[in-house]
Amino acid sequence: MTVPNMDLIDGRAMPQLGFGVFQVPDDEAERAVTTALQHGYRSIDTAAVYQNERGTGRALRDVPRDELFVTTKLWNSDHGRDKTLRAFDASLERLGLDYVDLYLIHWPMPQNGTYLETWRALEELQRDGRARSIGVSNFTVETLRHVLAETDVVPAINQIELHPYLQQAGLRALHAEHGIRTEAWSPLGQGKGLLNDPALAEIGRAHGRTPAQVALRWSLQLGNVVIPKSVTPSRIAENIDVFGFELTADDMKRIGELDQGTRVGPDPATFAAGA
Ligand code: NAD
Repeated sequence: MTVPNMDLIDGRAMPQLGFGVFQVPDDEAERAVTTALQHGYRSIDTAAVYQNERGTGRALRDVPRDELFVTTKLWNSDHGRDKTLRAFDASLERLGLDYVDLYLIHWPMPQNGTYLETWRALEELQRDGRARSIGVSNFTVETLRHVLAETDVVPAINQIELHPYLQQAGLRALHAEHGIRTEAWSPLGQGKGLLNDPALAEIGRAHGRTPAQVALRWSLQLGNVVIPKSVTPSRIAENIDVFGFELTADDMKRIGELDQGTRVGPDPATFAAGA
């Protein structure tokens, strides 16, 4: 299965679909990522706080480095210039890599007032070539506008919770205005109520596809990058098998009407765990 690439504003490109490893213990990450690589995934999304960079890194050794797109994230306790640079080195060491393809600030924590200084540290890492692309995660309209107004480099990506029950129209419009790619985390709503939605099931039946494949296809057709997670080999295969069918304009409209503005994860305006 070959995944199409999406251009980034910094001149680089990334696969439109990748593999997430949130909540996968370090000793299972190697097996899950190896299975994903066998099924054709080349983009892997981890984070310092997931505590599985070592296991993830072990699996990555099986594939030529220039075929991979590796993302990791800076945790909340490491905001600020010096801590960021140290945390980045520690992530590289755990991954066993000498650069990452994408480094993200995991949460903005607006109440701490540290994300601008932290972003400038990511700019340094990009200048050094050790983070090829840099971006943010969970930035709100307000915090993203602040970065755009006060710093020199436009984030290539904002990785945000996004699925049919939380469609994020406001952030998607702001991203489009500035050439920022939208990356959807929990694109399956963490496998909770979303995948039992009757509309997704009905649309899936019409295409001979599962509700999970419909949810991923919807996000891809909106132009998002998606990073579904599974540790089950059959689902790992199912989640990348989404490039051989197309939702109709009616399907897209119907899924567009499912938006409830409900989150499965924390609210980025207030979340500051670990800081
Ligand atoms: P997800 O929406 O990808 O859902 C994963 C869960 O859905 C699985 O654990 C499983 O229970 C179920 N599932 C997976 N495939 C399925 C299938 N084909 N059919 C039925 N059920 C299926 O949720 P997620 O793991 O929270 O998000 C994906 C990735 O996004 C994470 O692994 C992580 O890399 C990233 N993420 C980032 C942040 C952030 O703050 N930046 C937060 C959460 C997740």
